[in-house]
Amino acid sequence: MSEQKGFWNNATVSAIASGITLSILTAIAHFAGITVASAIAWLKRVAAFWSADVTLSRWAFWSWVVVTALAAVFIALQIYFNLQETDAPVRADKKPVSFADYKTDIFFGLRWRWTVYAGGSVGKMSVYCPKCDYELSPANVERGQSWGEHICRCEHCGYHCQIGDSALYQLAKKAEKAAERKIRTGEWKKAAEV
Ligand SMILES: [Zn+2]
Repeated sequence: MSEQKGFWNNATVSAIASGITLSILTAIAHFAGITVASAIAWLKRVAAFWSADVTLSRWAFWSWVVVTALAAVFIALQIYFNLQETDAPVRADKKPVSFADYKTDIFFGLRWRWTVYAGGSVGKMSVYCPKCDYELSPANVERGQSWGEHICRCEHCGYHCQIGDSALYQLAKKAEKAAERKIRTGEWKKAAEV
């Protein structure tokens, strides 16, 4: 079976044809949900037809060319989508879906980590340097130059920030409340990625 090749060699024709078939078939492929196995079986039937020695009128030939071309793109797209779906579960950019995933944030210039309990309360606060992640302790708090001023200084990297309280446990209580507030308001969704 043969026909003139000039028509498909025309750049404009093939560009338009591929553009249209791609956009239509992308939609159909998802809608129909044809599997790779059934697509390959279909492809085999098409190949059998092509190898058969038959005589066709011109309109029948071109109809079949169009159908076969569409089917080929359709099958290629289906295989492409199936591969995409296989990759999906391993994607690393998955957003946390529950406030139970909100376990850390920066409050008062320091990084806090905690345990989330059912109902949205938090506890077991621990505090870290926001710059180098060194764990901080009450020993890292020193008096500032003016009265009532306190500085929390990281002994590992030298990061320091002014804190309102003289003791870290007081600050931890405030951080706990700040985290619980974000859980209640839903702001944790934005902060959970931090
Ligand atoms: Zn540090």
